[in-house]
Amino acid sequence: MKTLTNKFARPLLAILIFASGITPGTLAQDHNPVFEFPDIPGYLTLLCDFHMHTVFSDGSVWPNIRVQEAQRHGLDAISITDHLEYQPKKEDVPHADRNRSYQLAKEAAKNSDLIVVNGAEITRSMPPGHANAIFLKDANKLNVDDYMEAFREAKAQGAFVFWNHPHWTAQRPDGVATLTGLHTELIEEGLLSGIEIYNHTTYSDEALQIAQAHHLALIGTSDMHGLMDWEYDTSEGEHRPVTLVFATEKSEQALKEAMEERRTAVWFDNTLVGDATYVGPLVKNSLELIHHVKSQVQQIEIINHSDASYILENLSGYTLHNKASVFILEAHSSINLQVKTPEKPDSFDLTFRVLNAFSAPSEHPEISFTLD
Ligand SMILES: [Zn+2]
Ligand SMILES: [Zn+2]
Repeated sequence: MKTLTNKFARPLLAILIFASGITPGTLAQDHNPVFEFPDIPGYLTLLCDFHMHTVFSDGSVWPNIRVQEAQRHGLDAISITDHLEYQPKKEDVPHADRNRSYQLAKEAAKNSDLIVVNGAEITRSMPPGHANAIFLKDANKLNVDDYMEAFREAKAQGAFVFWNHPHWTAQRPDGVATLTGLHTELIEEGLLSGIEIYNHTTYSDEALQIAQAHHLALIGTSDMHGLMDWEYDTSEGEHRPVTLVFATEKSEQALKEAMEERRTAVWFDNTLVGDATYVGPLVKNSLELIHHVKSQVQQIEIINHSDASYILENLSGYTLHNKASVFILEAHSSINLQVKTPEKPDSFDLTFRVLNAFSAPSEHPEISFTLD
C-alpha cells in the first residue's frame, strides 16, 4: 500500500519547544521511542516489522534508514519487502538484483543485534493481491510471470508468506477482507501462512476472523514508504505498528518457527490483538502489584511497566472504593486501587478484562492476580 499523507508535526513541535523553553532532551526522555514489552513464560517477546519499502521499489529512503529507524525504536527484527514487479524508480535506481535492498540493510545492521531477514512483496491484482515472502534465500527467483510459481518458489526456499492488506480499498473498495477460492487454495497448499490484520494505519476485524478460521499467523506492519517518525510521531506518543513474535530465542530460525506456529500478536494504536494464550501473559507480566494496606478496604498499587495504556474492567466481584468498574492504567505509570472486601479474607483474587486487547473481534483476554 502506498501512502500519500505525511504529518509535518515535527517542525511545528520544534517551534513549540523553542517557544516554551522545554529542552528537546527533556522531551526525548518523556517520550522514549524504544518499545517496551515484557517476555512471557517460555518465550522472548520479539518486536518485528516485516513490511517496508525503499527506493529499490516505490519507497523514498535508502535501506540503511530503515535499519536506523528500527534501531531507534528498539525493534528485534525487520524485513525490507520491496515490490518484485513494481519498479517505478528503476531508471534512477536500477534494481536488477531483487536481493539488493536486503543486502544493503543487512550490511547496515551488521554491528548491531537487529535481525534483518530477506523479503520481497509479490505484487498482483486481486486475487491474490499482494503477499510478502520473508526468510527468502533468493528474491530474484520469485520474479516470474506466473504468481503460483512465485508462491511455490517461496515455499521451496522455506519462506514464510503472508497476505498483505487484504482490506486495502484500492483492491477491496468496501474495505472488507474476503477470502477467495484462490486464497483458500493457497492456504490448503501451504503457500500462505499469515495475514495482515493491521497495515500502516488501517485495521481489519474480518482479516482477524479469516486468520482464526484458517489458522493463519496474525501480522501487523507499517508498510512504510516515507519516514517512520513523520507518520507515527513518537514525540506525541504515537507508535508504528509491530508484530510481536513469541520466540524461544532471538535468532532468525526461532523467529520463523514461532511464526509458523502462529505465536504472534499485533500492537497498533495502543491496542493488542492476539491469542489470549500469549496476550494474557503479556499484559499480566507488564503489571506489578504491591499490596500496601490490608484491611476491609484493601489498597493495592498497580505499576504498569509496558508501553500500553491498559483499559481494565474489574471482574473481581468486589467493588472499588476509588474507581468505577472500568479504568485506565497509563503506560509506564502506577495507580492505587482501593478494593472493598467487607469480610476481610486472608486471600482474594483480582481479575480484570483487558478492554484494549482482543483475542477475537469482540473478545478480550482476562488476567488474574492472587493477593494474600
Ligand atoms: Zn502492497
Ligand atoms: Zn508494501
